[in-house]
Amino acid sequence: VMLNAMVRIFRAEQAVVLVRRRSTLSEPERRNRLIVAALASSERGLSVGAEIPIGEGHLGYVAESREVLDHQDFRKVMADNPRRFDSAPGPLFSVAAPMVNDAEALGVIAIARPQRHHPQEKEMMQLIASLGAITWNNLTAYRDVKVAADVDELTGIFNKRALKFRLSELVYSARQGGTRVSVFLFDIDHFKNYNDINGHIAGDQALRLLAQLVRDSVRADDIFGRFGGEEFLLIMPGRSPAQAMSAAGNIRQRIARYEFPFGDRQPMGRVTVSGGVATFPDDAQDAVELLLSADNALYRAKQAGRNKVIRAETGLNPPTEAKSVDLDDTEV
Ligand code: GH3
Ligand code: MG
Ligand code: MG
Repeated sequence: VMLNAMVRIFRAEQAVVLVRRRSTLSEPERRNRLIVAALASSERGLSVGAEIPIGEGHLGYVAESREVLDHQDFRKVMADNPRRFDSAPGPLFSVAAPMVNDAEALGVIAIARPQRHHPQEKEMMQLIASLGAITWNNLTAYRDVKVAADVDELTGIFNKRALKFRLSELVYSARQGGTRVSVFLFDIDHFKNYNDINGHIAGDQALRLLAQLVRDSVRADDIFGRFGGEEFLLIMPGRSPAQAMSAAGNIRQRIARYEFPFGDRQPMGRVTVSGGVATFPDDAQDAVELLLSADNALYRAKQAGRNKVIRAETGLNPPTEAKSVDLDDTEV
């Protein structure tokens, strides 16, 4: 929208929108760069995705100074800081404006060679930029909230809310498309013991390690999350009961082989999990029944001695003695 506004208002031959990168844990310095997000251009030079360090060149200067600059201002800045723009060619842009929100530049917009001149070019560019900044700020804030609402704080994997939502979607599309969805519901064995002996902090750390271990070994289209305290759910779209059993067995084995801290203090000498596998539509007619079938199989895996994966009993109605899945608000 910003690009369109610039092109249409100024009939600019070139217009560009750059936004500040967001930092990540592994790359905190990403924030010091602008990335070309949108470009209208009749020439080569800039391209979408190109990065410009903040403070570097004309556009980087605008982000740093948070000033709107036109051609004349650029010349003055260059004259005042000859060394800074040493290698830079003359100003390429007629007007550049920072997208400022909360005294922070979220990006920069710029036009080159406008065919139509307005007496208040700088003010108009500033207006477009600040409207863009507000929108961009709201958009990223909304995205952050949305992501946070789906993520389990302790482990960083999906939470129950997100799992239930995705499962209902996947069961729905499996029903429409005549395909399958398998689930693997599993629970850490004797985890109360782990907490009692090693403390809650160590327990939390074990949950994190386990989440990471499983997340690193599932397929890209699998959905993995924390279903409850020490209970996890893996949703496997398109997988048959046999395929799901094999995937679940691998995960069980991988966990049993992993050297968790204090694993030797567990009753089985290791940290292990027990789980149940169920498949839609083989074992259940809807998402709720699917979870109940998996939970029932999980219960039987515990009964059978733990560190096991058991497949749902096809056609079995959820028995009353099964440890209940929390279905309080489940409309999946
Ligand atoms: P089982 O093999 O039958 O599953 O035995 P269990 O001890 O794992 O099962 P139980 O349901 O008796 O205990 C679950 C324990 O999980 C109790 C609780 O303290 C622990 N737990 C649940 N959520 C968390 C958590 O977020 N952090 C920690 N540290 N422990 C948790
Ligand atoms: Mg449990
Ligand atoms: Mg348990």
